[in-house]
Amino acid sequence: MDKLLYTGKAKQMWQTDDPDVLRVVYMDQATALNGKKKDHFAGKGAAAKAISDLVFNYLIEHGIPTHFIKQLSATEDLVKKCQMFPLEFVTRNVIAGHFASRYGLDEGKVLPEPVEETFFKSDKLDDPFINESAAIALGIASHEDLEKMWGLCREVNGLLKPLFEKAGMQLVDFKLEFGRLTNGDIVLADEFSPDNCRLWDLKTDEHLDKDVYRRKLADLTQTYDEVLSRLQNALAEED
Ligand code: ADP
Ligand code: UDP
Repeated sequence: MDKLLYTGKAKQMWQTDDPDVLRVVYMDQATALNGKKKDHFAGKGAAAKAISDLVFNYLIEHGIPTHFIKQLSATEDLVKKCQMFPLEFVTRNVIAGHFASRYGLDEGKVLPEPVEETFFKSDKLDDPFINESAAIALGIASHEDLEKMWGLCREVNGLLKPLFEKAGMQLVDFKLEFGRLTNGDIVLADEFSPDNCRLWDLKTDEHLDKDVYRRKLADLTQTYDEVLSRLQNALAEED
């Protein structure tokens, strides 16, 4: 019998009979403001999972090490269990969100080079910004670990920016999480869906990500289904 280990804001993590394998259940739930705003959306879990599986499979095909094993059902995956680094790695290609509000800027300008920001994952503390020396001093990660993870973030950006462009979307910013497997390897974990990235339509700048929920712009599940079908079409063209 699987045992529920954790219920997060978007997913549940279940321990399977294999100590190194978790079952992830994507929930029909969206949250904003670090969980303070929360709503139910039928079909959202399946849509986010399908996008994340497609992106992880694409990254694996292009040599990125990840936790992904296989899909179990429309809302469930099996993944390798990791010791997670309590860090969020945010890469920004375009000014948006908190980067705009923090520095008093308008959204929309393409940054001359990607901006990289690390946050300490803690709902209680509202995910504060953390720099490399603090992460090392607090024993969260070593210099080599951080180099490795930021290297993977750059590779992921290099692979996904053109993929989303092919699907008619600008990859504005995104958040990644990493974990360590029992053999010591660092892998990309968690998910990649419009819950943790910003996607703007290349022609109209229409928002195609969780901002439609945060800013009450459009139906969340319909938006995620649109992103999924665009990505599927872009990949079909590649074959
Ligand atoms: P949150 O914790 O931010 O509310 P989720 O609802 O997405 O987010 O919950 C998923 C949790 O599982 C996150 O805390 C994430 O760090 C963790 N996680 C993701 N992938 C793995 C993995 N392979 N092994 C262990 N934990 C993981
Ligand atoms: N992000 C995330 N989880 C967080 C905070 C941010 O997935 O706890 C993602 C967010 O979806 C966006 C990027 O990281 O794609 C940058 O987010 P930002 O710092 O602008 O904060 P936000 O405005 O999204 O709260």
